[in-house]
Amino acid sequence: MVRFSAPAEFPASAPPLKRIKRSPVVDDLEENLDPEEYLNGVNATFDMDILECHICLEPLSAPIYQCSNGHLACSVCCQIMSNKCGTCSEQTGKIRCLAMEKLIESLRVNCIYADSGCLKILKYGTKRLHESKCSFAPYACPNPDCDFLAPLKDFSSHFLELHQIRTWELLYGSWNTVLFKPHEKKILVKAENKLFLLYNDKDDLGNLAFLRQFGSQQEEMCFVYHLVVRKGKRRLSLESHPQSILTVERRPCDFLLIPMQTYSIEESLEIELCIRPTESDLNSLAATK
Ligand SMILES: [Zn+2]
Ligand SMILES: [Zn+2]
Ligand SMILES: [Zn+2]
Ligand SMILES: [Zn+2]
Repeated sequence: MVRFSAPAEFPASAPPLKRIKRSPVVDDLEENLDPEEYLNGVNATFDMDILECHICLEPLSAPIYQCSNGHLACSVCCQIMSNKCGTCSEQTGKIRCLAMEKLIESLRVNCIYADSGCLKILKYGTKRLHESKCSFAPYACPNPDCDFLAPLKDFSSHFLELHQIRTWELLYGSWNTVLFKPHEKKILVKAENKLFLLYNDKDDLGNLAFLRQFGSQQEEMCFVYHLVVRKGKRRLSLESHPQSILTVERRPCDFLLIPMQTYSIEESLEIELCIRPTESDLNSLAATK
C-alpha cells in the first residue's frame, strides 16, 4: 500500500517536489479565451517593441533565434540575412531563444479596439490577424462625401438615417430574395456579424448587381456569393467573391448585368442572394466573432 508522508518526514536530500503544471486554462483557439480567466493574472507594463523582430518589425513567433551577443531575430529574417545577425553581424540562426518563445506563447493581450468594445483576450501571435478582422475596427462610410468612421455595429442605423439605405438580414448559406424598390440602388446586407453592401447600379447597358464586403482585400476570398435574377423563363446568375468596400472607387471586377430589356429602374427588382464563407476560412471567421 502506498502511504503519503508529511513533508517534515522527507529526508533532507529528497529532490524538490516537482511543480505540478496546471492544465491549460485555454484552448489554442483564441475564441475560447475567457477574459475572466485573466482577471487575476499579473499585470505588467513593458515596451511592446521588444516582442517584435528588430529586422522585419513583425511580431516574434517561434522559432526565435539569437546571436552570441543575444540579439534576437525571427526565422524568416535569419534566412534572408543568411544567418548573419542584423545588429552585430555575428552568426545567428542556430541558438534558439526559448525564454522569449515561452514568454510569447504565454502572453495574452487585449485587442487594440478594446476601447471600442472588443472584449477579446488574445494570444500575442493571433493579435494582428484578429485585429485585421475585428468587428470593432472602425470603417469609413463608403458613401461619397460622408466622413462617418465607426465600428460595423453602428452602420445599420447610420445607413438608414443618413443615406436612406435599408438593412437586410440573412444567414450564411441560405437563399434570400432581396427586394429593391424602384430607384433603390443599395441595400446593406447583414449576415451574422459581417456586413455587405448589395448594389443595383445603373449602367449604359442595364443594371449592374454585385456585392461588396466590409473587410480588407485579404478577406475577399473568405466568402462566395451567388446572385440570381429571374424574368419569365430567363435566369441570370453570378457566382463570385465580394470585393472589399475599401476598393469602392474601383469598378467591380465582376457583376451581374441585368439588361435594360429585362429590368427598368422604375420597377422593383427581386434579387436572390446567397452568401457563404469558404470552407478554409470558417475557423478564422469564428475566431473574429
Ligand atoms: Zn524578422
Ligand atoms: Zn547580434
Ligand atoms: Zn477585437
Ligand atoms: Zn455615411
